[in-house]
Amino acid sequence: MRKKIIAGNWKMNNDINESQSLISGIINGLGNDDKCDVIVCPPFTSLNDVNSLIKDTHIKLGAQNMFYEDSGAYTGEISASMLKAVGCEFVILGHSERRTIFGETDEIINKKIKKAIKSKLNVIFCIGETLSQREEGTTYEVIRHQIIKGLQDVTRQNLKNVIIAYEPIWAIGTGKTATPEQAQEVHSFIRNLIKENYREESAEEIIIQYGGSVKPDNSTALLSQPDIDGALIGGACLKADSFLRIIAAA
Ligand code: PEP
Repeated sequence: MRKKIIAGNWKMNNDINESQSLISGIINGLGNDDKCDVIVCPPFTSLNDVNSLIKDTHIKLGAQNMFYEDSGAYTGEISASMLKAVGCEFVILGHSERRTIFGETDEIINKKIKKAIKSKLNVIFCIGETLSQREEGTTYEVIRHQIIKGLQDVTRQNLKNVIIAYEPIWAIGTGKTATPEQAQEVHSFIRNLIKENYREESAEEIIIQYGGSVKPDNSTALLSQPDIDGALIGGACLKADSFLRIIAAA
């Protein structure tokens, strides 16, 4: 059985002091309960401080982005080895905000995924359709394309280091959530796609998270679906209490 994984994407929120206070609240509320895995993804400037505070807990550290080159003249960018050195075990790649605001293409995301895996980072690979794509009926086509392109040349062995996060763009930060049934349908489609392109074993193993306005009051229904193995949380992870309630639901 797949263990559920709850990840919090803090986005561009929380300076060092605020990050310390949020992570302390999460640590205190979580205690020793490790029935589900927990990942926090603070902004770059807080990674080191948050890492020091989670050292003796089962909470894992993730970053929100990285570049695919090792080092050099890439102003403003952060490499995979820098993330490793600061204690990251995970990195979010392909988030819709990176795709739409920062122009990241499937090709760029694929390069980042391969670099992250090569650098021994686990990837939370985000995919999802826009509202107009859903209304046009092209959701499955879009998801298929994003997965095939994003995971190009990622081997079956390397897929073990990838979590897929299905995040319908129309549900991110909007308060609109996919119904548990809508989400389950896409998750099941993704698992089948992995089976087609890898093996049944890979499809059974891979963690597929749902993201998009997950809150304490809708998390139980979403997380009860057979192919929803966890959640990637934005807004609701910025308060320890709501993040902890979602973890408890998982
Ligand atoms: C996200 O941005 O990954 C996300 C799921 O955000 P929210 O929970 O705020 O919709």
